[in-house]
Amino acid sequence: MGISAHKKVLIVEDEQDILQLVKHYLEREGFRPITAISGLDALKKVKEEKPDLVVLDLMLPEMDGLEVCKRLRSMPSTAMLPILMLTAKAEESDTIVGLELGADDYVTKPFSPKALVARVKALLRRIERAPADGPDLHLYGALTMNLARHEVSLGKHEVPLTAKEFGLLEHLLRHRGRVLTREVLLSAVWGYDYYGTTRTVDVHIRRLKQKLPLLEGAIVSVKSLGYKLRDLD
Ligand code: CA
Repeated sequence: MGISAHKKVLIVEDEQDILQLVKHYLEREGFRPITAISGLDALKKVKEEKPDLVVLDLMLPEMDGLEVCKRLRSMPSTAMLPILMLTAKAEESDTIVGLELGADDYVTKPFSPKALVARVKALLRRIERAPADGPDLHLYGALTMNLARHEVSLGKHEVPLTAKEFGLLEHLLRHRGRVLTREVLLSAVWGYDYYGTTRTVDVHIRRLKQKLPLLEGAIVSVKSLGYKLRDLD
């Protein structure tokens, strides 16, 4: 079985023709497609059905795709959910906003259903491969994080990090290329019951950049949302 085996894909689209077409092609490839026809419906279905990936149209009634994307990214349970956005050519500036808000990829309308299915597969493959460095090691340019030894080095030089700096960097490395909100980082590194503010995250990001200058341009701040460690690919 290929990448599609048993994967549940939520298609969010208010135009029935497109919705049915995408559904048909995904089904044919062995996916389990489910559908939503509005932004609110999408949030509800994500919660109930726990899909493996969302194909999200930008222009939707009630709540548009950007807002849906932003909400999904801001909740820890869906912060990592792969999102493929559907946009029209005229919505290019919105597409860029969409990617900044954490969509993983986008397809411009009109699209061929086959090409869309290929992008869905590529995205799932990328996500499945995510901990690509193996369980004990993260590599990022000249930076090496050895989880077993709890060591970070730049080239041959070990760089001492505090436990929280280490945890934060590990989370960023593990989810490189994706937008992580301050709330998600806080709960991942400090724990849900941490009695601090999201400012804590900013302070630690700054310290990481001071200790590891190669992160200066690599960790980007995403508007009011959070941070993203650029993918090196
Ligand atoms: Ca639409």
